[in-house]
Amino acid sequence: MSASPRRTIGVIGGSGVADVFEGGAKAAHRVATAWGAPSAPIEEGDVGGMRVLFVPRHGPGHTIPPHRINYRANVDALVALGAQAIVTVSSVGSLREELSPGTFVLPDQFVDLTKQRPTTFFDGGKVYHVSLADPFCPDLARAAAEVGRSEGAPFAEGKTYVCVEGPRFSTRAESRFFRSFADVIGMTLVPEVTLARERALCYLCLAMVTDFDVWAERPVETREILETMRGNGERMHRLLGRLLPRLGTVPTCACARALDGAGV
Ligand SMILES: [Zn+2]
Repeated sequence: MSASPRRTIGVIGGSGVADVFEGGAKAAHRVATAWGAPSAPIEEGDVGGMRVLFVPRHGPGHTIPPHRINYRANVDALVALGAQAIVTVSSVGSLREELSPGTFVLPDQFVDLTKQRPTTFFDGGKVYHVSLADPFCPDLARAAAEVGRSEGAPFAEGKTYVCVEGPRFSTRAESRFFRSFADVIGMTLVPEVTLARERALCYLCLAMVTDFDVWAERPVETREILETMRGNGERMHRLLGRLLPRLGTVPTCACARALDGAGV
């Protein structure tokens, strides 16, 4: 593995993933953006020779709910510190029998059902309409799939993530409806993924199933969810430790050209 990293990778951690660095971060940066402050100071460190920046999406101590996260500030703070790609970790509920708690899921599509979040950087001035037909970076997805498959633990690719506003959970009717077009449900993918595309970054979401959504009619205890999250967190740490050092190669994707021809 090269000792001289060629790319800087931003990691946005969700529930259950508090850090990515073995032995702690080397530095923490307080970054001001045009949108305000990110969820926390951005930690900088090294993972297998890669320069990695980390921000916990819900802030220190998990105090920021999904609909109050300053997604624009998180993405732009990572950009300001040099990130060219963003890898994110999210907890999700399962809408499928076969995606049981503990399964890692790599979504390749999403459906946005959020209601009241700022969803764009292009809020006036020059107008851009970026394409989200394929929302995730194919290079990052390929690397994550290789690492995920080789872990030998439950792992699924090519799934659809429905993003809801939250912070409440679904009604039974909503959950049955979501099952007609999606595989997992969460509250944080959008607008993070769309903002990353607007900044022409590579973006990947690693989702961890913590429970079955309410359609399954199987009440889960908080204790079970916490145990699953603890196990998931340790596995995710291992997976990131193997994945991040593989992301230093020259990209073959078109992510960096996302704004070409998108301006009006
Ligand atoms: Zn890419």
